Amino acid sequence: MNSCAKCGACSVVCPVYRVTGQEAHTARGKIHLAHIPELHGKGVMFEDIFSKCLLCGACSAVCPRGIDVCREVVDARAAFPSIYGAHGYEKFLARKALAHPETLSALRVLGRVGAEFVSRYLPAESGLRLRLALFQQEVGAIPVLPVQKNAFPDDSRPKEALTYFPGCAAHYLFPDIATSCHSLAADLGYALHVPEGLSCCGLAALSAGDRREAQRHARKNIIALEQGTGPILVSCASCYAHLRRYGDLFADDQLWRSKAEALSARLLELSCFLDQHLPPGLAKQAAGGKKVRVYYHDPCHFRYGLRIIEEPCHALGRNPDLELLELPDGPECCGQGGLFHIGAPDIAAVIRDTLAAKVLALAPDVITSTCSGCLMQWRLAVEVAGSRVPVLHLAELLSTVTK
Ligand code: SF4
Ligand code: SF4
Repeated sequence: MNSCAKCGACSVVCPVYRVTGQEAHTARGKIHLAHIPELHGKGVMFEDIFSKCLLCGACSAVCPRGIDVCREVVDARAAFPSIYGAHGYEKFLARKALAHPETLSALRVLGRVGAEFVSRYLPAESGLRLRLALFQQEVGAIPVLPVQKNAFPDDSRPKEALTYFPGCAAHYLFPDIATSCHSLAADLGYALHVPEGLSCCGLAALSAGDRREAQRHARKNIIALEQGTGPILVSCASCYAHLRRYGDLFADDQLWRSKAEALSARLLELSCFLDQHLPPGLAKQAAGGKKVRVYYHDPCHFRYGLRIIEEPCHALGRNPDLELLELPDGPECCGQGGLFHIGAPDIAAVIRDTLAAKVLALAPDVITSTCSGCLMQWRLAVEVAGSRVPVLHLAELLSTVTK
């Protein structure tokens, strides 16, 4: 709290504050509360304030004191009242989810068969269970873009091995993402290799304040990935952002911290990889002269902090049949981050639907992103809006050509 200048720069950019107008929901308000010992970890007000954060990082990006607000919020969540027992925030989320089943429609994006598949096969330790809030039984169908596989020329070159971290979403939920990454990489001369023993990246556990569980995931991934050398391709923005900060999980453990930092140094984000390798003017045979109107949603993890903003657009721009759409006032958060959609479903729905209305007014043919959480939120958004606009991962879009 002592380092907060109380300047209010964080208020203007906070998506939650824009909806609620409550000072307590700004970074300034949260930091103030977090540092009052007699309030810390106690009471409904504490729960309310620290559940209402997207962990988007917009505040830290403008903070003149460089305060890591997400870290403050995660630490506060770890201190949720002991009445919930261990991992109090996760139990708080479960209680919230059961109280708001109508707004927790994440499984609607999967369809009933997909939901049953996830229930049976998604590992209990996967952070996706938290993200999906597996309490909702009502499910719908996913609109499908009429696409066919792109005919990248297969020159039969020997492929260079490249380690791939697909993340839970591409591994279990939307395997077309992983398939598309394999296909794109093969066309560019790389054979993706997924090491044995990978775990969930652990971001959902950390977002819930469960640092010990997040460390457990990190150790498993470090052990699996340190068997190899060279770059590690990551296709999920959330996973990538979290893997980049693995070292922070082991502040008091020099051995694991150095292992974590060694892993982070090898990471290669998918859109950066594609920006480096995709040839210009690909897929000119597609679309019969009509450009496909694409809205790219840039995940908060990339817009703030990591600043991976241009690369996905450059990769999309390689295809002359794609027309990139932009919002007049710039990109906005989709309302899914940091388990916010469970902790504050009403506000998440307002943020989601407000953004969706603006984007759908641009008349896109397809919406794309690289974050599994954002993709799920967008699929729900278009369904709630009664739209049939497909939502595809960047790899899926770039490995296909519209008929
Ligand atoms: S921007 Fe930073 S210094 Fe200013 S009020 Fe917010 S947290 Fe405090
Ligand atoms: S991380 Fe995002 S939602 Fe949370 S306080 Fe900062 S700007 Fe607001």
